[in-house]
Amino acid sequence: MNNSSQPGLLRTCVILLLMILGFSLPKILFAAEKLVVYSARNEHLIKPVFDRYSKETGVLVELLTDKEAALLVRLKSEGKNTPADLFITVDAGNLWQAAEEGVLKQIDSEVLKKNIPAHLRDAKGYWTGLSIRARTLVYNTKRVKPGDLSTYEALGDPQWKGRLCLRTSNKVYNQSMVAMMIHALGEKPTEDIVRSWVANLAAPVFSDDTQVLEAVAAGQCDVGIVNTYYFGRLLRSKPDLPLALFWPNQNDRGVHVNISGAGVTLHSKRPEAAQRLLEWLSSAEAQNLFADDNLEYPANPRVKSAPEVAAWGSFKQDQANLAKAGELQKDAIRLMDRMGYK
Ligand code: FE
Repeated sequence: MNNSSQPGLLRTCVILLLMILGFSLPKILFAAEKLVVYSARNEHLIKPVFDRYSKETGVLVELLTDKEAALLVRLKSEGKNTPADLFITVDAGNLWQAAEEGVLKQIDSEVLKKNIPAHLRDAKGYWTGLSIRARTLVYNTKRVKPGDLSTYEALGDPQWKGRLCLRTSNKVYNQSMVAMMIHALGEKPTEDIVRSWVANLAAPVFSDDTQVLEAVAAGQCDVGIVNTYYFGRLLRSKPDLPLALFWPNQNDRGVHVNISGAGVTLHSKRPEAAQRLLEWLSSAEAQNLFADDNLEYPANPRVKSAPEVAAWGSFKQDQANLAKAGELQKDAIRLMDRMGYK
């Protein structure tokens, strides 16, 4: 009887031990392996990227998506208690603002310096671009020849009277674009350009880029300024629209670009892990996942664009540091207001 119960007891002990280890080991090993990301980039665009990261590293990524303003307020009010490790948003103006408000942590990363060109990163290391969004000209192919177009500035020439469509100046994309113009050309020349644009408008300003594209396609106007991914999205659903992109200012400063990007939060409890995730997002492996679904350009110049995006042609981009879009944002807003750009 003793002989048969001892192996039974031993087996029970082993099973109990395995159960205890089985339940607690993963918790011990992975307790720190979770990162929280606050993102103003649409969830469907970045969820697949983080799923890949989790699969490769075992690090879980918890995502909270909302509008950038709401996330910024949240980060500030949570202060030291924030669960957030990384803040992702669109437009350099918004990233600059987040750094100004003191919610981002300064990091010095050799990986980011290697992967992301300097003009797409904050020189002080508070944020980095992860994808490029080009804001360029779009024209009606039945009414305009590409040879008629040259620069953003030239859209104010008399030949475009009553032929230009623009999105509202309330949108940060236009605020950043005009801010970068002030940086490149100076305040007074930018005033003259914006005034001449307003004089050439064919219609009141539109609330989004897609409306601008549709107005150009419908012949309500002949030319407009849009982010290329809106063009790509619209052409996917309506490939026969008479629209084409034009890359302006190729003989001087280049096409105005902006970014979607991120920074490690100041009060992250896992800043090294957050930095590793940020660095991974800049790597060749993650860049297409990050950019392609929204038809944006990878920020890492060693990574090729999606074929659909590459088909729009290559272009010279403005190399001025995008921190200027934030620094000069208020000046740009005041200037557009003075010039009657609604
Ligand atoms: Fe957009």
